[in-house]
Amino acid sequence: MTSKIGSTVLGYPRIGPRRELKRALESYWAGRIGQDQLRETAAELRARTWRELHDAGLGSVPSNTFSYYDQVLDTAVTFGAIPERYRALGLDPLDTYFAMARGVESTPPLEMTKWFDTNYHYLVPEIGPETTFSLADRTPVERFREAERMGITTRPVLVGPLTFLLLSKKTAEAPDSFTPLDRLDDLVRSYAELLSELHHAGVEWVQLDEPAFAADRQSAELEKLRGAYERLGKLSARPKLFVPTYFGDPGESLEVLTSTPIEAVGVDLVAGATTTNVLSGLTGLRNKTLVAGLVDGRNIWRTDLDHALATGATLLGLAGEVAVGTSCSLLHVPYDVEFEQNIDPQVKSWLAFAKQKVEEVVLLDRALHEGREAVREQLDNARAAIEDRRNASRLRDEKVRARTGQLRPEHARRGDRAKRRADQRQALGLPPLPLTTIGSFPQTSDVRKARAQFNNGRIDRPTYESRMVDEIRRVIELQEELGLDVLVHGEPERNDMVQYFSEHMEGFVSTENGWVQSYGSRCVRPPILFGEVSRPDPITVGWAKEAQGMTDKPVKGMLTGPVTILAWSFVRDDQPLAETAEQVALAIRDEVVDLESAGIRVVQVDEPALRELLPLRSELHGQYLEWAVRSFRLATSGVSDSTQIHTHLCYSEFGEVINAIVDLDADVTSLEAARSRMEVLDDLNSVGFANEVGPGVYDIHSPRVPEVGEIEKSLRAALEAVPADRLWVNPDCGLKTRGYEEVRTALANMRTAAVRVRDSL
Ligand code: GLN
Ligand code: ZN
Repeated sequence: MTSKIGSTVLGYPRIGPRRELKRALESYWAGRIGQDQLRETAAELRARTWRELHDAGLGSVPSNTFSYYDQVLDTAVTFGAIPERYRALGLDPLDTYFAMARGVESTPPLEMTKWFDTNYHYLVPEIGPETTFSLADRTPVERFREAERMGITTRPVLVGPLTFLLLSKKTAEAPDSFTPLDRLDDLVRSYAELLSELHHAGVEWVQLDEPAFAADRQSAELEKLRGAYERLGKLSARPKLFVPTYFGDPGESLEVLTSTPIEAVGVDLVAGATTTNVLSGLTGLRNKTLVAGLVDGRNIWRTDLDHALATGATLLGLAGEVAVGTSCSLLHVPYDVEFEQNIDPQVKSWLAFAKQKVEEVVLLDRALHEGREAVREQLDNARAAIEDRRNASRLRDEKVRARTGQLRPEHARRGDRAKRRADQRQALGLPPLPLTTIGSFPQTSDVRKARAQFNNGRIDRPTYESRMVDEIRRVIELQEELGLDVLVHGEPERNDMVQYFSEHMEGFVSTENGWVQSYGSRCVRPPILFGEVSRPDPITVGWAKEAQGMTDKPVKGMLTGPVTILAWSFVRDDQPLAETAEQVALAIRDEVVDLESAGIRVVQVDEPALRELLPLRSELHGQYLEWAVRSFRLATSGVSDSTQIHTHLCYSEFGEVINAIVDLDADVTSLEAARSRMEVLDDLNSVGFANEVGPGVYDIHSPRVPEVGEIEKSLRAALEAVPADRLWVNPDCGLKTRGYEEVRTALANMRTAAVRVRDSL
């Protein structure tokens, strides 16, 4: 047995190259297949991944990176942190697990939230003083044995104890002074028990992920990190410990980790490129392995191997051993670029998905340790692709450059606020507490069918368009009947709020099979933003005009904002994000201006991902928020004072972005508030927000239809914080995932509640 870790990847996609796991999960949930069949599919996918990673020549193959839903939930189950309300359901282990993930009739699921600054969502464990940790489930051991039976020695991967507790929330019963991290000692005892079992099973290396240390951390938390890994390191019979941090610069935690007895650390040299500066000062590294995360696990571009090798070479003397790895798990990229038949061939030659990234890791590691000559031909081929991309003339559009070069501060500034308000009042003539929705109406199976038929060429464009117009007419009539004030067309023509726009702009390509897990069985297919972005022709104007022609009430144009388009795409990495954002902003600006010229008086630009892209380190917030806010303002400042700009954000806990919401300077901002009981309005008041606001008066994320009394109560609560002349009435997100039956009743109740409150003003 070798003791080196060798080249490796921190994790791998698990949904299946053809989304086999998604299908199996959904069939199981629908009762069409049993547990045996689900387990069989899962085992096949694991075997296939191990075989592929092993045959590719990695020095160390990870295991336990498979999950039926989420790796944080897996960790909670491994250590017995199952809240009593799920145990009480009396289900078998797998169904208890799915109950925590998805809820059952009687019991809602655990809360779900974004995994750091990615678009992957994890389930939030609930930890209290009463949580009993134990080694409740031995999946990590079983998986190791499963791979061993195939003749493949693997390295079990778990979320590390600090990151696990830092991502958890305290139980409802826990006292105010409690934080989950208070339970670190108890949890570490259970990790120690697992490590001992893994050791006896023959495991040589274990990976404990601590990405929480790429974010700001207090010194007490750093001390706890030290304490935990000293304790685990001192265990007498244990596997070697490999602890990667990722998604950014690990800051002081790296010094802490290298001072403990663990055997290997991993650093993200893509998102945390600055880390290379501190490595030479870390004496603790000299007798450890450094897994250098040189291959980007978050994006889909081929690695510049020469550049990566140069970085790798500077590391060689700094650690006892240097191995090449990915910056983070490959969970965040699709499986295999070879599945793509229709991407522009030149763009395709610049791409590397998970499978190709594994090859890059192996190649880089060989070049680093055996010398370039050993892999000369592959390096030359790779270089040719990098150079082709670097020199591609299509990556520079002089027209786009000329436009961004001429931008002045006034392009990102709208007219005087008071005048805007007065002009809009006059132009729109709305009643107090105007009623509106967030944009989408239920996507019926007819709508989806028409889109699929059109995409397959089974119906022609005029037929498709006339079906969409019929749907828009139904949506407009429904809103008229319900007495809403600012109407929407319902977005039936959109597959997705980002992909739809990317398909109509220059500079993007779409994939056919580039699926990435978002949560559970849900996958997204992010477009690839490879070049200079522009909007050759109007995108939404035709639909908006059509809808406006059906009613005298204002119809709200509906667009996705530049930050959200970047957040939910794979974005070019050869220029600063701020520059790309500026181009996308101008493309959206063109659309806003064209909507105005077509007679649309209200335009909403959604930015649900504004907070998601916020850097993990607070020192980087200012810079990010500056370009993010500016790009929204560039997109929305091309119109006259009388055109009303709305924005929509999908959350209510603004935290660090609250001042940015004010700076967006949208005339009307709609946001989530139903679940947090309007507290968000006080937060906005505290930073001087003075524009109009539509706090969602009911939660669309549940099929429950809200009663009139409830909505009325929410509205009255909102009026405590915001004067009536600045308050709008709307649900808290789009209605796309709901059914018409619910939506009709819910909106009717919303209207009745608003009328009651209006009458009492
Ligand atoms: N306008 C979009 C819709 O209603 C907004 C979606 C979102 O906020 N994520 O569907
Ligand atoms: Zn939303």
